[in-house]
Amino acid sequence: MTVIYRARKIITLDPSRPAATHVAVRDGRILGAGTLEELSGWGDHTLDTRFDDKVLMPGLVEGHSHLSEGSYWRYVYCGFYDRVGPSGLTWAGVRDIEGVVERLREGERALESPSTPLSGWGLDPIYFSGRRMTRGDLDSISRTRPIGVLHASAHAMNVNSAALKMAGLLRTGIRHQGIPLDDEGLPAGEMMGQESMGLVGSHVGFDRRLLASDEVGLRFFGRLCVRKGVTTACEMASLLPDDAVAMMRRVTGEERFPVRVVPMRRLQGMPPADIVAHVVSLRAAGSAQLRFGAIKIVLDGSIQGFSARLLWPGYYNGRPNGQWYVAPEELEQALALALAEGVQVHVHTNGDEAVELLLDCMERALARHPRPDHRFTVQHGQLATAAHFRRMKALGMCANLFANHTYYWGDQHAQITVGPERASRMNACATALAAGVPLAIHSDAPVTPLGPLFTAWCAVTRKTASGRVLGAGERIGVDDAIRAITLGAAYTLRLDHEIGSLSCGKRADFAVLEDDPYEVAPDALKDVRVWGTVQSGRVFEAAQDAT
Ligand SMILES: [Zn+2]
Repeated sequence: MTVIYRARKIITLDPSRPAATHVAVRDGRILGAGTLEELSGWGDHTLDTRFDDKVLMPGLVEGHSHLSEGSYWRYVYCGFYDRVGPSGLTWAGVRDIEGVVERLREGERALESPSTPLSGWGLDPIYFSGRRMTRGDLDSISRTRPIGVLHASAHAMNVNSAALKMAGLLRTGIRHQGIPLDDEGLPAGEMMGQESMGLVGSHVGFDRRLLASDEVGLRFFGRLCVRKGVTTACEMASLLPDDAVAMMRRVTGEERFPVRVVPMRRLQGMPPADIVAHVVSLRAAGSAQLRFGAIKIVLDGSIQGFSARLLWPGYYNGRPNGQWYVAPEELEQALALALAEGVQVHVHTNGDEAVELLLDCMERALARHPRPDHRFTVQHGQLATAAHFRRMKALGMCANLFANHTYYWGDQHAQITVGPERASRMNACATALAAGVPLAIHSDAPVTPLGPLFTAWCAVTRKTASGRVLGAGERIGVDDAIRAITLGAAYTLRLDHEIGSLSCGKRADFAVLEDDPYEVAPDALKDVRVWGTVQSGRVFEAAQDAT
């Protein structure tokens, strides 16, 4: 059956026909965009006028997110900024450590068993004027119940004494880069980096394996996507155990599940050769709504957590350099094996030293295994220089930059982490485009909230939370930003032939908007109202879903 949707305006992002009034859909795919008369040529159809006052554009693509954007809402929100949960309810931000402790105390009252861990998320001590949270702060809530609060970056966690004790870490004599000690020689309570977090995570509710299979979280994630106009989104860091794969297959296969999920297998827990083989074997488990086939590698930590690897002269406030999560030999081996097998790789690199190591390893791996159109993607690349972008172009790589950082941490980057000059060229979208590097931009949800139109606004305005423009020279135009959250992100996922623009043969994925992002002032891009989505021809209204 053919449905022709009529709309106030249809933005196609197809240069041969940039705008239209009607779009025809059959079997979840687009027959064409044009006039009613043209589209009637496809034969019998029904005319659907429900979008008469709406603007349709290609469904938005989030090229770097995590399903934990859905899962973490089961925990206590401890973030600095107000945030909207999957049901549409706004959680107020907490502005100091006392506020975080109070919020957690409220959360504890809802727990039935005294042995259930108390888990929080979204914490970021960088906003607390130099004060770090200690285990003592969390001990004031409970000395017996394990408590863990994941930082917004997801690269560090604060825990209480009970949690440290359960992990066998409440003792002197620990020497670990990721476990700072207090004056008594005991762990201060901050666990920095994947390895140290892994020692306590399962005791405080952050069991990666369980979270990977969290069905409720996946459903929450789907609802958030509808609210933000997103029709395709990634899961960037799962180990993809069999039970998680089975759960994703079942849920994404449902008639009313609204988003196409692209899960990547994280390089962890197995030698690179086994991980490449795992991903190859997963290809058959995919479907139109579930796309396996890529690997994610995390190379360093986070800049605001001082665990990212920076080139000389390092952190502005003199903090020591960050952590490597993967050894250079392992990285190069993984890249080479993946190139040989035709498996795509996305690499998290926050610091410029991480970007440089990746480019060096990529150059050597490509010399051994040349492969056209590999589209290996630099994820975050926050401190990449103009020279780095030129190398990315030469090596055939894409960049997916973390545009939301400018708003959420731009002020702190200028004042504390990297200093004014480097802060003004972080997430250098204009330089990437000038170098000809295929560009996407992202939220890294739940690190910052899912919402590609907000992400586009960040890249267009480069405004920080305090309202200053950070690095005006790296701002990009509205059209480039809109492309980065549709076709650009689709290209990095090797899906640009299927999604990202509206033309004959592509999936019928639309963001349904109340306002036209090309008509509003660029500074209002983040305020463009989203009605919902059409995904593979199925209509999802955000408001209907609100509770
Ligand atoms: Zn991420």
